[in-house]
Amino acid sequence: ARLKPASTVTSICGYCATGCQLKLHLDENGRAINLTPQAGYPVNLGMACPKGWQALDPLDSPDRATTPLLRNDAGEMVPVGWAEAMEAFVSHFKDIKEKHGRESVAFLSTGQIPFEEMAFLGSLFKFGMGFIHGDANTRQCMATAVAAYKQSFGFDAPPYSYADFEESDVIVLVGSNLCIAHPILWQRVMRNKRNPQIIVIDPRATETAQAATQHVVLKPKGDLALFYSLAHCIVRDGRTDPESIERTEGYDDFVAFLRDYSPESVSEKTGQSVEAIEALARTVSEPGKRVSWWWTMGINQSYEGVRAAQAMINLALITGNIGKPGTGANSITGQCNAMGSRLFSNTTSMVGGHDFAYESHREKVAAGLGIPLENIPADSSLAYDQILAAAEEGKIKGLWIVATNPFHSWIDSGRLAALREKLEFIVVQDMFHTTESARAADLVLPSAGWGEKDGCFINSERRIGTLKKVREAPGIALSDFRIFRLIAHAWGCDELFSRWTDPESAFRLLRDLTKDRPCDITGVEGYEMIDRLGGVQWPYPASNPPANRERRLFEDGNYYTPSGKAKLLFSPPADLPEPTDSAYPFTLLTGRGTSSQWHTQSRTGKSDILQKLYPQEAYIEIHPTDASRLRLKEHDTVTIRSRRGEMHASVYIAPTVQPGQLFLPMHYPEVNRLTHPSFDPHSRQPNYKFCAVALAKA
Ligand code: SF4
Repeated sequence: ARLKPASTVTSICGYCATGCQLKLHLDENGRAINLTPQAGYPVNLGMACPKGWQALDPLDSPDRATTPLLRNDAGEMVPVGWAEAMEAFVSHFKDIKEKHGRESVAFLSTGQIPFEEMAFLGSLFKFGMGFIHGDANTRQCMATAVAAYKQSFGFDAPPYSYADFEESDVIVLVGSNLCIAHPILWQRVMRNKRNPQIIVIDPRATETAQAATQHVVLKPKGDLALFYSLAHCIVRDGRTDPESIERTEGYDDFVAFLRDYSPESVSEKTGQSVEAIEALARTVSEPGKRVSWWWTMGINQSYEGVRAAQAMINLALITGNIGKPGTGANSITGQCNAMGSRLFSNTTSMVGGHDFAYESHREKVAAGLGIPLENIPADSSLAYDQILAAAEEGKIKGLWIVATNPFHSWIDSGRLAALREKLEFIVVQDMFHTTESARAADLVLPSAGWGEKDGCFINSERRIGTLKKVREAPGIALSDFRIFRLIAHAWGCDELFSRWTDPESAFRLLRDLTKDRPCDITGVEGYEMIDRLGGVQWPYPASNPPANRERRLFEDGNYYTPSGKAKLLFSPPADLPEPTDSAYPFTLLTGRGTSSQWHTQSRTGKSDILQKLYPQEAYIEIHPTDASRLRLKEHDTVTIRSRRGEMHASVYIAPTVQPGQLFLPMHYPEVNRLTHPSFDPHSRQPNYKFCAVALAKA
């Protein structure tokens, strides 16, 4: 009885984009003391992964930033009050702006904060402080899917519901280790009663590949050629769906393009036999079968990810596998609010699913937010890599980093360390003062974390859910929302944001901006309604609020393009940006190593339990043949070297990788010293997955 909570409240988990709902157990003071997964929520159905179960742990970490810290003349970080912190923030950034113009300061934000805070940051920075450039770490996870959907469907619109995992006959997972990256979604696959074929297309024998009915062991970046060859076979054998093709543009050009992609011509590049390609083509075009395509970072984090995502979209379109139960070309998002960032971050696109380039959109946003039209720039922001390149060139001189850790996570991270000297002023706003990025800052602004503030996240299936304040932030740390209010006041633009009094007021402002956009949520009254309905998937327009809880898009065959038809987009595969050679003979794969760690471990690294579930020291997977050739034993320490940097890791011998390949989990700070800075030309997403490295016993 002593452990019985005084009350409970629900909240969406603050890690991944699955968007599980947790039930937080509160004491008599309303403070969370424990949690359990929420039964009956349509996403997680009473389940949570280890990160969700331990979600309260990071709040109690001794590494929490409890007060602003300002670098003094001796180079030391010293505690200061909020007034002094605001004075430093405003004086440095105003000074830079005065000397170098409105393109000289940029922000780098996150998919980890509620969209009310994202929108406040983007609006404050661009419409209030008068700068142009800001991007989010969603560039590192979802930008490719965004660009692919926008180009193909006319809007960033993942078409599916999680229920589709349970209603599919053929589930094709590409570059997705669903078992550990989205473990609750894997449980949704396991609930499928249709005896589905589960096909994993991946160079690595991941946990998911090992559990699948078929693992297509792909050569690195053979994906695009394979998809085109599947489409070639499907068209050649007359296994297309004419009704679905009617709803597309560019089919004849696509068919002509596919002539060069016979199974014989791509067999070498993909590592697949002709028979295997033809059999797979038959499987994904079986009449009467529901086929769904799902992808994550193996596709997105690539130099040609947009075209690879669109190649799957094309396959779904030409076989009629879209807009029906158990189908779709479906991007699974990475972070808890990556979808919120896509619609509300005000970075490269404008709040509410609008575009800076269109005057009508700027007018609508100006009127909706009560901001003078001339405050809204017509220029979109530089993307993340372009912001950093501009900083290297000396054009950007100030950087404001909010709830992200690029000094660990950005590709070729050694370049950021060098950038430290070039930038005149770096502000890091974070829960912790110990991240790699916070240690590089001139000013640290201490922020509340998940559990210490209110707001909304939007998950991968477009479902909006609420998070709740169930703890007080430590010391004088404040929610990001409150920090933005302080900055608006200190900058002298708070009148523009007088309606942004609290997160729910901001929610209502943003909700109204979505009117008549594909993501229209004008039918959502507020947080109470979201909770009452078990989350709300967009669209939810006031004019026609849908009755069902789980909904997919495009059931009527209408897309968001001007013609109403989906576009079939394609281009020839490009060469690997950094192929192996005699000096760097191994291909390095990176990715998530475990379900118990999150990204740079800035939060999960603070949980004793999660740390016990995962090796503290970096390890590298190597094939037994290579290990034997190099006379390596289990747990030997090796040095991994690329043209950009090197690191040590412990040897883990396993046939999970192919000979000539290595796998490093991304959670260790040194990993991105190795990765090669190449980017998708459409999405500017970094290509984290394949670079050339050498390996030797340390
Ligand atoms: Fe669910 Fe993802 Fe949170 Fe795990 S991390 S509990 S899968 S939302």
